Amino acid sequence: MIVRVLGSAAGGGVPQWNCSCANCDAARGGRAPRRTQSSLAVSAGGRSWLLLNCSPDVAQQIESYPALHPSPPRSTPIGGILLTDANVDHLGGLAVLRQRGTGGFRLRSSSVVAAIATAQPAFAPFSLPPHRWLEVPLGDFCANDGDDDPVGARLQVRTIAVPGTTPGYDGRRRVRGAVVAYEIAERESDARLLFAPVFSEIDAELRRAIEACTVAFLDGSFYSDDELRACGLLDKSARALGHQPVGGADGTLAQLRGTPARRIFTHMNNSNPMLDPQSAAFGAVRESGAEIAYDGMELAL
Ligand SMILES: [Zn+2]
Ligand SMILES: [Zn+2]
Repeated sequence: MIVRVLGSAAGGGVPQWNCSCANCDAARGGRAPRRTQSSLAVSAGGRSWLLLNCSPDVAQQIESYPALHPSPPRSTPIGGILLTDANVDHLGGLAVLRQRGTGGFRLRSSSVVAAIATAQPAFAPFSLPPHRWLEVPLGDFCANDGDDDPVGARLQVRTIAVPGTTPGYDGRRRVRGAVVAYEIAERESDARLLFAPVFSEIDAELRRAIEACTVAFLDGSFYSDDELRACGLLDKSARALGHQPVGGADGTLAQLRGTPARRIFTHMNNSNPMLDPQSAAFGAVRESGAEIAYDGMELAL
């Protein structure tokens, strides 16, 4: 299985158009890498690809990776899209992909996410032919949906409901299925990828999935709960926004100390001090053996 990090930032990216924080200024000034909004591309064999979330930067992300380029006259190697939640930075790219000519996309999300997303005029067409919007069974494997579907044919995908809320535009309702993670394995391989870019806490089910996988992409939005306030950027805590912080006594690093899986943080908000290699937060991540994703990072599992 090939795993490509298309984007590694939370909503807004790094730099964010209206932000002049230290990380955004460093990226703008060429002193730190730029980051687009978080998404992964996954493939068994490299011919048909699954997108894990579809960021508003998807056009740029496709251009940046030849494996996702179209072939003549107009066809895409993207065989399906999995959505973890209904946040705009995770599905806003659908509005960019609306030019598809023949055939349609096969999208998958929880029923909660499908209901919220398809109520938005920009995304509603994706629930109608030629597209298909399939609801994923929470806690179970996704069924195959035909010959050209990479899910179920070469990739086994299991959905895990994780603690979290619906997006701000839907009132941040805490309902099961508002946020999910995906566990993906290639048939006849023991390697397992876990994609969990958003969670507000690690419950028993998510912990089991992290401990059982080979590589886990984890919510790296914020290092500390009060980071947005401390930077003077927003009067909200990480947890109020649905993200468990990475650092601190009860953060993700502390909770997963000793976990055998390779842990890679993604979906970093531009306020996150982990993005600065000189910071204590960066040092703590490295010291724990975890990693920080970057745009263009590639893994073979
Ligand atoms: Zn996000
Ligand atoms: Zn910033």
